[in-house]
Amino acid sequence: MPPFPHACQARRALMPSPLPLLTDAPDWRECPHCGQLSHVGPRRPGMVAECPRCGEVLWHMRGAGANFTLACALAALVFYLFALTAPFLEINAYGRFALARLDTGPEQLLAQGWGLVAAAVFTVTLLGPAAKLAILLVTLGGQGWLPPRALKTLFRWYKPVSPWAMIDVYLLGFLVAYTRLTGMAEVHLDTALYALIGYMLAMAAADGSLDIEALWRKLDERSKKLPHPVEGERIGCDACGLINHAAEDEPCHRCHTPLRRRKENSISHAWALVIAAAFLYIPANIYPVMVVTSLAKTNGYTIMHGIVELARAGLWPLAGLVFFASIAIPLTKLLVMAYMLTMTQLGRTEHLLGRTRAYRLVDFIGRWSMIDVFMVSILVALVRFGQFANIQADVGAVCFAGVVVLTMFAVTAFDPRLMWDVLEPADEQA
Ligand SMILES: [Zn+2]
Ligand SMILES: [Zn+2]
Repeated sequence: MPPFPHACQARRALMPSPLPLLTDAPDWRECPHCGQLSHVGPRRPGMVAECPRCGEVLWHMRGAGANFTLACALAALVFYLFALTAPFLEINAYGRFALARLDTGPEQLLAQGWGLVAAAVFTVTLLGPAAKLAILLVTLGGQGWLPPRALKTLFRWYKPVSPWAMIDVYLLGFLVAYTRLTGMAEVHLDTALYALIGYMLAMAAADGSLDIEALWRKLDERSKKLPHPVEGERIGCDACGLINHAAEDEPCHRCHTPLRRRKENSISHAWALVIAAAFLYIPANIYPVMVVTSLAKTNGYTIMHGIVELARAGLWPLAGLVFFASIAIPLTKLLVMAYMLTMTQLGRTEHLLGRTRAYRLVDFIGRWSMIDVFMVSILVALVRFGQFANIQADVGAVCFAGVVVLTMFAVTAFDPRLMWDVLEPADEQA
C-alpha cells in the first residue's frame, strides 16, 4: 500500500515537486501542514489545489472577482457600525429595564473585577472583527493609491487575525443567554441583533469569495520588480505562501515577513500552553462560571450545571451544543495536542495523515468553545436588578476563557510539518 493513499483524491492532481524553478516561484507552494512542495498554477476559477500528500487546500481559486468581495466587506462595515451604536437586547423585570450593546458585557465584567475575561470578550467581539474588516477593506480598496508594500504588510495579518473575530460564536452564546433570560424577564430583541447577523453573513460571503493567492499576485504586479535570489535554501513563507530562495530570518521576497523553515521552539511552546490549559481545565469545570442571586437566594452555576438546566427545560439541541462546545471540544483539543506532541517528539511515523487531519479539526473547532464565556458576558450585562435578581461572573469563567485562549495559542504554536519531518526522503518517494 502506498504511504499516502489520499494523494490521488485531490480534486486537482498536484504533482510532488522535483525542484521549483526560479522563474515560476509563485506557482509553487510549501504545504503548511506537511511541508510538501507542489506546483499549483495556472489559475482556473472554481478549482481547488490540494496538497497531494495531506489534502490541505493550498489555493482555492474563486470565481467571483475582488469587487464582489469588496462589496460584501462594505456591507459588513455598515452592519458593524450599526451594531456598535445600537442595543441588541432589552429586558424588563421587577419594574426595571436594562439593555445590552456589544460593549456592555466587557464593561460590566471589568466593573465586577474580571478584567481578563473582559479583555478576552472585548478582543474577540470588538477588536478582532474590526481588525479583520479593516485589513480586508484597506487591502482591497487601497490598491492604486496606497503603496503595495504597505498593503502587503497589512494583508499578511488577515489569516492570523481571522479566528479571533468571533461574531458567529457570539451569536450562539446569545442564543443560550436568550433561553435563560426568557425564564426570568420580559425579553425584547433589538435592532443591533439583526445588524450582527448581517455582519456575520456579509463577512462569510466576503471570506467565501476572497481569492487570497490571486490578491497576493495582484499586489505583486503593482510592486517594483525585484530579481528573485538564485541561491539559498527553499523556504515557504508562513504568511503569504511564496517559496523563497533565502536563508532563515531573511525577509520574504513578497511580504517581508522573516522566513522560518519551521516555527521557532514549536514543541516547547505548544507543550507549555497545553499544560497550562490542562491545569485551568479542572477549576474551569469545578468552580461556578457565574453566580445568580434571585430574591435573596444565591446559586453558583458551573458549566455542567448550565447544561443540565438546558436539558431539563427540554432544550436538548442547545444542551448538546453547549456540552459539545464547552466540555468535549476543550478536552479533545488537550488530548489531541498532547498525543501529537508526544508522537512528534518520539519521531513516530504512524498515522501521519490522521494526525494532520486531527490538527486541522482542532484548529477549526477551537474558537467555538467561547459560547459559554459569551453567554456569561451577556447575562452579566443585563441582569442587574439589585436584590431582586443579579448575575455576577465567577472564577470558573476566567479559568474557562483561559483554557479556550491557551489551547488556541497552542494549536497555532505547533508546527504540524514537524510530524512529517521524521520521514526519510526514501519513505517520501515510496
Ligand atoms: Zn500537505
Ligand atoms: Zn511572504
